[in-house]
Formats: sequence, C-alpha cells, structure tokens
Amino acid sequence: MKVFKFGGASVKDAAAVKNIAEVLKTAGCNDVFMVVSAMGKTTNALEDVVRLYFENGDFELRISEIQNAHLEIVKCLFETGHPIYDEVLNLFADLNLFLKKNRSPNYDFVYDQTVSFGEMVSTKIVSHYLNLTGIENQWLDVRDLIKTDDSYREAKVDMELSRKNFKKLGKGKFYLTQGFLGSDPNYFTTTLGREGSDYTAAIIAYCTDAESMTIWKDVEGVLNADPRYFENPVLLKNISYQEAIELAYYGASVIHPKTMKPLRQKEIPFFVKSFLNPNGEGTRIENGLKLEPDVPCYILKKNQNLLTLTTLDFSFITEDKISRILNLLHQLKLKVNLMQNSAITLSLCVEDKFIQLDKFIDEVSLGFKIECEKDVSLYTVRNFENKTETAPGDGKELLRQIIKNTLQIIRK
Ligand code: ADP
Ligand code: ASP
Ligand code: MG
Repeated sequence: MKVFKFGGASVKDAAAVKNIAEVLKTAGCNDVFMVVSAMGKTTNALEDVVRLYFENGDFELRISEIQNAHLEIVKCLFETGHPIYDEVLNLFADLNLFLKKNRSPNYDFVYDQTVSFGEMVSTKIVSHYLNLTGIENQWLDVRDLIKTDDSYREAKVDMELSRKNFKKLGKGKFYLTQGFLGSDPNYFTTTLGREGSDYTAAIIAYCTDAESMTIWKDVEGVLNADPRYFENPVLLKNISYQEAIELAYYGASVIHPKTMKPLRQKEIPFFVKSFLNPNGEGTRIENGLKLEPDVPCYILKKNQNLLTLTTLDFSFITEDKISRILNLLHQLKLKVNLMQNSAITLSLCVEDKFIQLDKFIDEVSLGFKIECEKDVSLYTVRNFENKTETAPGDGKELLRQIIKNTLQIIRK
C-alpha cells in the first residue's frame, strides 16, 4: 500500500479538487490510502469560531460564512440534488448543535470538537467528487482508527492500538480519510497539532507497513530555502531522514516535524512532490541518503520570543535552576527553539503557541531578572559555509550561535 497526503493548498477551491483527480490518474490509486486536510485556510476560520464562542461573539455567523464558502465549491463540482449538499449542511448543523449544547469550559476540548469539522467536510467533498469522476474510493472516519490520549490540541498517538485498528481493513482498496484528527479513549475528537496532516499520513504508513508515502505540495519538493522569504531556492533531490527531521525541527514548514519518526522506524521511503507537476522528480527522503545537492539550507522562523534570565544574587545558573525553568516551560507548553547560557544568564528562544508566555514570565520573575524581546525571528542555516552570514531583515542582531554545521541568529 502507498500513502498519499493532500494538504490545504491542494483542496483550496474547486479547480484544486479537480486537479487531484488528475494527479491520481498520473500517480495511480490502486492500493492507496489518501489523507486529506481541511480546504485552504478553513482551520484558521474554525479557530475563529472557537474564539468567538468563548468571547460570546457571533460564532453562528462565522459558521455560516464557512458553510457558504464550502457550498460555493460544491456548486462548481456537483449538480443540484447531489447528496453532498445535504451532507455538508448536516455537518455544519452538527457543529452548531454541539456548540449550543456544550457545557465544557475546556477551551482545548471545544477547539478539537470544532476545528475537526474542516477535515470532515473536505473529505466528504473530495471523496464524492472522485467517485463521480470514476475514481472509486471508500471514505473512512479516521477517528475510528487513530487512537490518542486526551491531550486536546496536541494529542499523543497510541501507535499500537491504532495499528490494530488498521489491520482490520481489507487490502488492495483506495481509502480516503482525514488528516490531523484522532479520538481519545472516550471517542471524543482530538487533534494532533496544527499542520498535523503530514504526521497523520506517516502514522498510517507506519500502521499499514506502507511501501512508500508521498505528500503532495504546491512546491516542487523540499527546497533549500522557504520560497516565501528567499529568492531562487534550489530543489533538494535527496535527503536523509535525519537531515529532514532537523530541517523540519528548525522550522522548514513544508514537512511537519513529527512526520519522520514513524517513517524512519519502518524505513518507509518518503517523497515530497508537487500536485502542480505530478511527473516531477520531487524530493526523496530515506535512511542514509546523502544531501543532494550539497548546499546550505536557510530557514526563517518568525513570531519567536527571546527571554534572558539573570540570577538576582550573582549566583550561577546551575543545572537545578535550568531544570526547574525547563520543567515550567514544558508544563506551560512553551517550545524552546534555542538555548544558550553563561555564568549568570540563560537565554531562551521560545515559541508561544498556546499564549502562556506572560504566565511563565510572572512565575519566573520571582527568582530571576527577566528580559523579554517579543516578536523576534530565528534564522537557521544548516550546512553553513559562511560564519559571518547575516540574517534577512534590518532589525538588530540579538544572539548568534554555532553548533557543528548549524548557524543560528536571532534578529529583531
Ligand atoms: P500543505 O498544503 O500540505 O499544508 P504547507 O503549506 O504546509 O502545505 O507546505 C507547503 C509550503 O511550505 C510551501 O508553499 C512553502 O511556502 C513552504 N515552505 C517552507 N519552507 C519550505 C522549504 N524548505 N521547501 C519548500 N517549501 C517550503
Ligand atoms: N487542517 C489542519 C491545519 O491547518 C491540519 C493540516 O492542514 O495539516 O492545521
Ligand atoms: Mg498546511
């Protein structure tokens, strides 16, 4: 079996959905498991619904806007009277009903029950469309297959339990299911973290012992620099799992960083290809592959925070102090992307996905002098050639670190 993943950009409008049928004609879809994300920026829009719901805003209006955007796409793909119209309306009615009946004050729980509708709707539309064009597929609810704990918004997958569920499925078919979702032991919906559909595909590849996995993107493959910020990036033809996990970890957002582990465990070849050019070579990621071409890779991670903690009494930043600080960061789900310490100061580049930074600062300022520079960028060059490299932008350079072949710069 092969696993394919089509992300938000590949299903952003009716033309994009039609193009998927073309890609499948080129790539083949016998014995394929296909993972599909929410359409375009639907997840952001549904995040808005959750925010409005908790702020007592007009979340119903926002839902009807999202529903209408989906119906516009449906109108371009199906004739009036097709069952998809009712299925889409029913799904949005279910979402409204859930929010009206909900009594849970748990933001993360409500978030997962809500944003998951993006994937439910998109997979219904794509599945029906492919069936209509003669590409027969079986739609599956991934929440019956991928089991997780109840850490809403960043659920941990139970690989063994999930694997048993996948083993029950027949072979040789074309299955189509949602990315990003799972379910907890009580069958409530969970999500695997933003942009998590690449990871879903890897979980499915692991659970089905797939022969390969391909994620179809709007770029030729993995490039040596993010095309949104750098000119003339080159296509990386071959990368090892190890290099790919480092690139993704430092912020090359073309691949979700959790994707590599399940693939590496079973040595499943991993391809990143373009849905705009399905015959293109793309990028091949496998164990032990030498980086080809052997060029520096440039990564820019925005929206970071640089924290500088200094002891109040001139005592050293000892291991136990660092460990207490790291523990607190972990509890508050703050992600550290760079760390540097001297005798009495500790510098941390921190990402604040869950809006917990101020809480951290409040707690830590009891024991340390703390300076915080918000909204900085972290620039990373893997395989760097030039030590005096400067980061893009004209803000002040705040910190520089070189570890082996990786150069990192924090810039305002
Ligand atoms: P999906 O549609 O699967 O969600 P993403 O938008 O997450 O796809 O990933 C594709 C995008 O990643 C590209 O359009 C590009 O802007 C961005 N990107 C960032 N870094 C890289 C890189 N090193 N190589 C290719 N694309 C990159
Ligand atoms: N739809 C989800 C998101 O936008 C998951 C994904 O696209 O990978 O984060
Ligand atoms: Mg995405």
